[in-house]
Amino acid sequence: MYKDGPDSCMQGENCVEVYAHEKSVLRLAYLTQGNEIHARCIVRDDEMEWIRCYPNTNSTETQRWHTAMEAAVEGAGYTHGNFDGVHLDKVRHPDAGRHDNKWMMPYLDNGSGRRCDTYVQESSDWNTLIVGSDGLEAQQQDGYVDFDNQATCDECGDRMDEDNSCYVDGGEMSVCEHCYQNVFVTAIGRRGHETTVRNSDAVEVGDQWYHTEYLSDNDIYACEDDGEYYHVDDLCSTSRGYVHTDRVTALDEEDSDGNTYAHDNDIATTHDGRTIHESAAVTETINGVDVVFHKDDDIAAYKAEHNEEKEEA
Ligand SMILES: [Zn+2]
Repeated sequence: MYKDGPDSCMQGENCVEVYAHEKSVLRLAYLTQGNEIHARCIVRDDEMEWIRCYPNTNSTETQRWHTAMEAAVEGAGYTHGNFDGVHLDKVRHPDAGRHDNKWMMPYLDNGSGRRCDTYVQESSDWNTLIVGSDGLEAQQQDGYVDFDNQATCDECGDRMDEDNSCYVDGGEMSVCEHCYQNVFVTAIGRRGHETTVRNSDAVEVGDQWYHTEYLSDNDIYACEDDGEYYHVDDLCSTSRGYVHTDRVTALDEEDSDGNTYAHDNDIATTHDGRTIHESAAVTETINGVDVVFHKDDDIAAYKAEHNEEKEEA
């Protein structure tokens, strides 16, 4: 079924043999049409649960078989469950010597459960490996677990296969794959060098992460309007500080700090059509009409001219 059946990371892998042994509660449900094997699903008879249906749902055709498989196991009285507590056969890995502790192990699917249901440890009663929340994480696709090669994740404290550990924080910490993917990111830090840091110590700009301690070194600043981080090329200097280019207007007269842009909400238009910072705007009532000037304009001259015009009129 694994060799000729639907696509998965364990297709054709010998390690799946550990599911089958004399005392196993696991059974393999499958659907065929003609000579073709179209779907499969491991079920456990002790809890009447199914774990995960294959094929994956990546096309209309596979979706159809996936749905049919799920309907079949549900129809047979199984509910969605997981491997917790299941005994797997203890089969020595072909590369392992007699005293090595390296055993065949497929990638264990999560099923309906929690992440903690995919760890294995040696059981004391049978010659088996038991699935649960303790031991080595059995979610690698290399087909084995090695109890001689254990390390502890510096982040979550779980035991892990040393070969699958990842170094972070400049090699200071060694963490499991789960933590590496969920807690850490590769970010641009000091002098533009990439480093792996906790995601809480980094900000995402576009599709790139930046270490929060070195933001200005890498031309990353917060927009004072929305609080998000942007590259300086996408920001304009305004009286409020940096604001994203989408929310600024070019000024025809520099503001008092020499900025040539202002936030869209901070602008005023003068009587002769210039865009200026509102803090520089002066409104005078001339001949009963409000007229907006820049504070440095020669307002007296304007008034004199327009009063004269009125007198002439
Ligand atoms: Zn971890």
